Amino acid sequence: MKFYDADVLIVGGGLVGCALACALKDTRLQVTLLDSREPAQTWDAQTWDSRIYAISPASRRFLTAIGAWQHMDATRLQSVAQMRIAGDDGRSELAFNATDAGTDELAQIVESRELQRALWLAAQAAPNVTLIAPAKPSALHDESDGMLLALEDGRRLSARLVVGADGVQSWVRAQMGIEDKTTSYEQWGVVANFDCEKPHLSTASQWFFADGVMAWLPLAGQRMSMVWSCNDERKQALLALSPAELCEQVAQAGQGRLGQLQLRTPPAAFPLRLMHVADLARPHLALIGDAAHAVHPLAGQGVNLGFGDAMELAKVLAAQAPTQCGDYLVLRRYERARRENVLLMQGVTHGLQKLFNNTNPVLRLMRNTGLGLTDQWVWLKNRLIQHAMNA
Ligand SMILES: Cc1cc2nc3c(=O)[nH]c(=O)nc-3n(C[C@H](O)[C@H](O)[C@H](O)COP(=O)(O)OP(=O)(O)OC[C@H]3O[C@@H](n4cnc5c(N)ncnc54)[C@H](O)[C@@H]3O)c2cc1C
Repeated sequence: MKFYDADVLIVGGGLVGCALACALKDTRLQVTLLDSREPAQTWDAQTWDSRIYAISPASRRFLTAIGAWQHMDATRLQSVAQMRIAGDDGRSELAFNATDAGTDELAQIVESRELQRALWLAAQAAPNVTLIAPAKPSALHDESDGMLLALEDGRRLSARLVVGADGVQSWVRAQMGIEDKTTSYEQWGVVANFDCEKPHLSTASQWFFADGVMAWLPLAGQRMSMVWSCNDERKQALLALSPAELCEQVAQAGQGRLGQLQLRTPPAAFPLRLMHVADLARPHLALIGDAAHAVHPLAGQGVNLGFGDAMELAKVLAAQAPTQCGDYLVLRRYERARRENVLLMQGVTHGLQKLFNNTNPVLRLMRNTGLGLTDQWVWLKNRLIQHAMNA
């Protein structure tokens, strides 16, 4: 019988790859998690990560079930009890309230590095998970009965299944020749954190403008994190501003809702794209997280979609004997289960981006009227909240 170094070899120990390793902790599978860098475990507590996520209640339940949420520093968490979305006519608004939907919170706002630390700790504690980091792969070979991964340091690892969790520029995807269809939104996500003069009252706000979308997510304490999805011209203008000018401009764009702002974390910009991949699964191979899809961040669902992948793949693999984990028929179950959810989320965020990033006056009237009508339609609002919370 052939010996394998691992049943499941996960390439990429970011949030999603790490979550999959943790989700496999109570199975009979031997799991290896490999990353080209080891995540930071300590930092100056006075600083805040500029990468912030809105974690849906479904993702939070998953992160708790796999033993990661328990490692989070509670003083850095912030729940969202309310959400306000403003149209670009200065009047239309849609407000969601957790209590109206019979729940305590719509989402939890967390720092990327803090969640990464918690997941890494949970993976370290799993007896069937081996962590290899930092280590860089150099070649991936598809053998008839599994995969062989060569590392730059000369090591070779065999596995029944390789999972590509190595982000939007996935090396695994490229090595296996899986095509991706990527469309640039010709927009950037400009992110920065601020101290605020007024309390945020656990409210997340979003403003649609003619040339983009700005979101303010409440952070623990009197702070907020901004994601401004905008065109190249505005991105360059925002990044060129002095800290005081940036605070002034962001505060003004948000109608002074949180009073005066003070910059806490310097602004950074990320390109925004939509990406579909041809296959989520092949014999002995599966893709998860950003390696499998990219969405516009206006719904804050990118990492939640990735956690959905990890949850589903772990469920499918746990139901099989370890020897079967690379079988294409097994992996197809994962692909079928995820394809629809991913397409739905990509369709919704893409449609919203196109609807709002448009100067056509008829569309402008429709979108703002739509926001106002949805706000008055309680049943529809509650359905939308339930859908977002379970995403
Ligand atoms: C501006 C912006 C704002 C966003 N806001 C939100 C939000 O509010 N909510 C939300 O849910 N999502 C948001 N997203 C999306 C979110 O960032 C991603 O969906 C998420 O980070 C994907 O996680 P991942 O683990 O799949 O990939 P990554 O986070 O990209 O992790 C990939 C891992 O693989 C490793 N790796 C890469 N290449 C290799 C290699 N060759 N070998 C070994 N290891 C490798 C990397 O070191 C890394 O650890 C946002 C994105 C942007 C751009």
